[in-house]
Amino acid sequence: MMKKRITWIILGFSIYALFMGLYLFSWADFGVPEAYKGTAADPATFMTERELQLSEEYSRYRNFLSFIAIPFEWIIYLGVLGFGLSKVFKQFSEGISKKKIVVVPLYILLLTAFTWVLTFPLQYWARSLSVKYGINTQSFSGWMKDEMVSFWINVGLTSLVIGVLYALIKRFKKKWWLAAWGLMIPYLAFMMYIQPVVIDPLYNDFTSLSDKELEEQILDMAETADIPANRVFEVNMSEKTNAMNAYVSGIGSNLRIVLWDTTMNKLDDDEVLFIMAHEMGHYVMNHLYGNLIGALGTSLIGLYLAYRLLGGMIRKWGKSWGISSEADLASLPALFLLFSVMSFVASPVELAISRHAEVQADEYAIEMTEDVDAAVGSFQTLTVNSLNEVNPPFLVKYLKYGHPTMMERLIMLNDYKKNTQAE
Ligand SMILES: [Zn+2]
Repeated sequence: MMKKRITWIILGFSIYALFMGLYLFSWADFGVPEAYKGTAADPATFMTERELQLSEEYSRYRNFLSFIAIPFEWIIYLGVLGFGLSKVFKQFSEGISKKKIVVVPLYILLLTAFTWVLTFPLQYWARSLSVKYGINTQSFSGWMKDEMVSFWINVGLTSLVIGVLYALIKRFKKKWWLAAWGLMIPYLAFMMYIQPVVIDPLYNDFTSLSDKELEEQILDMAETADIPANRVFEVNMSEKTNAMNAYVSGIGSNLRIVLWDTTMNKLDDDEVLFIMAHEMGHYVMNHLYGNLIGALGTSLIGLYLAYRLLGGMIRKWGKSWGISSEADLASLPALFLLFSVMSFVASPVELAISRHAEVQADEYAIEMTEDVDAAVGSFQTLTVNSLNEVNPPFLVKYLKYGHPTMMERLIMLNDYKKNTQAE
């Protein structure tokens, strides 16, 4: 029985990986439609032959890797359950102490470490690719340090959340999903509040913007947009990556505007201002709160489904996994599996909503700056620097893109320019 299951899982995964490989490396077309050849949306007009080739190559590998990483994670959870490892981890933790405050973190540590080791080759491969194509510039030791920081943050936060969750499952057998959801609101708000001041600085140094003239311009823009920020932060990403970014993060008194130093180093001031206007657009249109509400809505559905499905899974396979009930901490990999599958299923919808918000932010930015050339310049430089695919194939767009594709963004700008010139 067990042997048969393992064979099916390996077979299923191999077929999936083969399909994705063929799709990305042979069937899918990364080219630009005939109608846009020679326009600002055609990468051939702003990338060299070599850059074009590298970006296509890099995109294929990178996408392949991220596509196989998802079911790989599911297989790990199934393996941890099927081979009875989850039970072993729990018994080992209980052997150290019977106290929940020891058992939960210890169990989470073992489970996280096991998963981390198994997924490390994929992580390492992804990093090597990024280094090979000149995006990631971080030393191996620096990268490992960041990996360790996120490993321990993950263990700490997961222990806290899971400790509370399993206490709720034990106490409210039929309503734990509702109780857990009620606690999510203050938890998410708290995390959003501390993120920019507690979590982010663990990875990077944040300083006030070195270019005072630019800071002045950004703050002027923030004032026009009614954003109560009085400082712009610069983060030293240039020692880690060639990619660029800028964002508005945090809530309440911790709200801040952040700019990666790579963005400033590689873009002209008017281009930086366009990027900033886009970020401010998110803030002005309340996308942050929209996301929060969306996250709460989907978690309510997700938690309810998890409650229904987890019970069913334990009744069906609990015996062979050595798990007696949902309240048994050893059922956690089943819960993780459910959450991961559900978020994968929901992702095309979530991404479509996100792409819509990004279009709005682009429109806001262009209305605010009225500088189409700066917008085009920033998008093109962004594309070249991260070797982004301008026109990703169908599956990549719908399963991975939270932003419109670069081609769509550049076409939008092109249309805007045409319309304003016509007026
Ligand atoms: Zn955005």
